[in-house]
Amino acid sequence: MTQLPKYNKNGKTTVVSKLSTRMKYTVTDFMSDFPDDDACLDWLVNYLYPHGVFCIQCDRSTRHYRIKKRKVYSCSKCGWQVSPMAGTIFHGSRTPLRLWFYAIYLMSTNKAGTSAKQIERELGVTYKTAWRMMHQIRTMMEAPDEQLEGEVEIDETYVHANTFKRSSARKRYGFDARRSGEIVVGMVQRGGAVKVWHVKAAGSRVLVPMIRQNVKPGTLIHTDGYIAYRKLPNWGYEHRWTEHGKGEYYREDSYTQNIENVWSHFKRGIRGVYRHIAPKYVGAYANEFAWRYSNRNRASMFWALMCRVGKKHKQYARGV
Ligand SMILES: [Zn+2]
Repeated sequence: MTQLPKYNKNGKTTVVSKLSTRMKYTVTDFMSDFPDDDACLDWLVNYLYPHGVFCIQCDRSTRHYRIKKRKVYSCSKCGWQVSPMAGTIFHGSRTPLRLWFYAIYLMSTNKAGTSAKQIERELGVTYKTAWRMMHQIRTMMEAPDEQLEGEVEIDETYVHANTFKRSSARKRYGFDARRSGEIVVGMVQRGGAVKVWHVKAAGSRVLVPMIRQNVKPGTLIHTDGYIAYRKLPNWGYEHRWTEHGKGEYYREDSYTQNIENVWSHFKRGIRGVYRHIAPKYVGAYANEFAWRYSNRNRASMFWALMCRVGKKHKQYARGV
């Protein structure tokens, strides 16, 4: 096997073999990359200001010094202070940065989802803190605005947020419990990303504008036989559908298996990990599962999520 020497970001030599393409970013890698809070802050500063920290007083990138024992940097020319945490999800939090990074690690890599109880136990923070951190991290998991294209599967599903309602709905509506609970609409690009939304109703008045905003015209759309999708060709889409009600699940290449996989994964997560969730957070949880699905082929899902840390921060990082 050919082995190529490669330098990692600390300048140490690591031997990379062909196997490395299948290697995962493990918790050991995490521990060595982020041994303490200072290492986390250094990473954050380097990531947010790749061309040096920008000083708004000097109106240019200048040398900055870390102020001892504080998470603040000071301009060497004028003394103006800048906090790299401002505008990020870490802003105003007293929780150590390393615990934040570890929570991001757990939420990005646990495919079945991570419960607030687990974060509480592993990080040694209170349940309330764990819960708040997770909701902050979920804001980084929002889907990008890009439109889906190629072949897209669209479907809606009913989610029972609460354990009690789940069992009573099952008694009332049968095992399937269709047509009760919170409605989630999903669109998946075959071989690509998935986008999901929690909606109040799923008629064509809701669905058609959503599709027009999120799917490129001319795209081939696969759905079930739901009447609300029938007018899609009027909006410049090619539409194929399968009549699930008649026991038909596969018609030529028209199937919605990908989006149904997303649903079953999401529902298993709610049932097994979250137990019950408030209806108002259904959208946020659905987004979390959608983000992991969309990034499933990334070499490291942890780094894919870490790259979104600065999303809200860009207005501060002007040093480009
Ligand atoms: Zn300055």
